[in-house]
Amino acid sequence: MNTYNHNDKKNVVLISIDSLRPDMIGSYGNKPSPTPFLDGIFEQGYSLTSCYSTGYPTQFALPGLLTSTLPLDHGGYQYGIRDRPIVLSELFANKGYNTGAFLNGFWNDRLFSYDRGIATFCPLYDLGYWVRNLPSVYLSYGQKQLEDPQVPEEHIIEILVPFIGKFLEGVICYCLERRAEKDGEREHPRHESPSLHGWDFSKAIEIAKDARQSYENAPEKFTRSLLDSSTDSFLGQLDNTRDTPNQGLMIDRKLRVVSLLASYLIPWPIPRFPMGAWGFARMAKRWLDNSRKSSSGGYTLENLESWINEQNDSYWVWGHIFDVHNKNMFSWELDDNRFGTEIEELRSYLSGHKNGWSETNRSLSQALSLRYVDATLERFFESVYEDREEPPLVVLTSDHGTLFPYRDGDHVNLFYDELLHIPVVFVHPNIESGSYDGLCSAIDIGPTVLDLLGMESPDGFKGESIQNLPEGGREYVVAEDMGRGPVDPMKPAKIAVRSANRKVVCSAPILDNETRLEIIAAYNLHTDPGERNPIVESELPPSFSTIVSCCHQRTDQIRRSLL
Ligand SMILES: [Zn+2]
Repeated sequence: MNTYNHNDKKNVVLISIDSLRPDMIGSYGNKPSPTPFLDGIFEQGYSLTSCYSTGYPTQFALPGLLTSTLPLDHGGYQYGIRDRPIVLSELFANKGYNTGAFLNGFWNDRLFSYDRGIATFCPLYDLGYWVRNLPSVYLSYGQKQLEDPQVPEEHIIEILVPFIGKFLEGVICYCLERRAEKDGEREHPRHESPSLHGWDFSKAIEIAKDARQSYENAPEKFTRSLLDSSTDSFLGQLDNTRDTPNQGLMIDRKLRVVSLLASYLIPWPIPRFPMGAWGFARMAKRWLDNSRKSSSGGYTLENLESWINEQNDSYWVWGHIFDVHNKNMFSWELDDNRFGTEIEELRSYLSGHKNGWSETNRSLSQALSLRYVDATLERFFESVYEDREEPPLVVLTSDHGTLFPYRDGDHVNLFYDELLHIPVVFVHPNIESGSYDGLCSAIDIGPTVLDLLGMESPDGFKGESIQNLPEGGREYVVAEDMGRGPVDPMKPAKIAVRSANRKVVCSAPILDNETRLEIIAAYNLHTDPGERNPIVESELPPSFSTIVSCCHQRTDQIRRSLL
């Protein structure tokens, strides 16, 4: 892998595709390939074939990618990356780059300080995300803790109070910006969207300001009242400020989607998709509902492209798209021409592939969302990369993966490889194609980008450029979290340490130095790459001792970070 060997500023485009597992990509073995464009990009660019995220889901993954630190460093992730020494975007902003971000996902909002160093910051998820995430993540955590007699109520309130204050500020700021966009006072996002902009923001601002007033009068009391009942709180009132019901696809488009899917499913009865008419109707409804869950990748990238087209000077821009996560397969906010093209692309993919899905990639909606993302990225590349005299350095990756269909149980706070292994590729005409196959971490992506551009990594970055790692890669990589919701030192930290051939997942109490670390699961990845046969603690072979001692070291570091 070569660097640019000079210090000229180079444009950088970072695209993170939420929930994209490497094996979903055709060139990693997903056949029939839903991703012919990505297959080509992975061949043409320089990829990291053994790179692992710092956690799952998004909340625990992004600190690694953007700040080259682990989720529980610097006081933890409760406020995202607020307290990290420096963010990738800031390094570029400090060098005079223009910076932008067009992001779907909520967990990369300003609330979590992902706007650090970014001049044009555009969150592209709708107000409903604010309404849903507070109760589903933070309040439900508080409610669960209240049921635990060991946990004093004051402790829970103390942890939640500052977050609720930040949350209220965040909603107000979000609504003010969205209203300004509707009023034409903000330039980006360029295009209006029914889900983002279909709200009465003046009313929402009023509701959020009233809530903030009550909060300021009595923060503890206000927070306690949210825990008592979330139903008639300001969240319900906010949710009622939708101007029009967000129906996603319009009726004629819905019919076309259903007929596309039916034409695929019905003549093929049907070892892979056994279902009757009712099952099909339910599945079709779910597919269609997905279209209104959040902004499409097409919409996100179209806005990003408009922004790039305005840049006269060097830029750094980040796009985060959510279609694989939501199994969305249409740019439903864009015009009918675009929709017609997308339907035809899916039709031709389906008609070419009536059977033969692999065990890990047998979901039809997943395949279609991948096909959609691939075609959308291809359009974006044509415009911002291929048609340019000086194309940007493009970094394509994901925040984390997705569970294999054969797992059951809890979908959050797991450390399976399929959740942590991420695809990474760097593309630029000056970068030779190839791959680095050594073990590395998402914290190494930022330093590698800087190295490629001839920039130095700052002290606050914990990762290394892969050009400084040995051929075989790191001895081990780390993923960790303390569960969804607040970072509460009363909870144990969950830590996964993975070497090339072994993995240990442990639960480490943070408050009490005497309590021992509990090994939840260990895997010999050489003999059990699918992580189907966990080794219990009492049967752990001595060959695991190094990796267990890494868990101990990391626990000590986390204690120093949090206490
Ligand atoms: Zn995610």
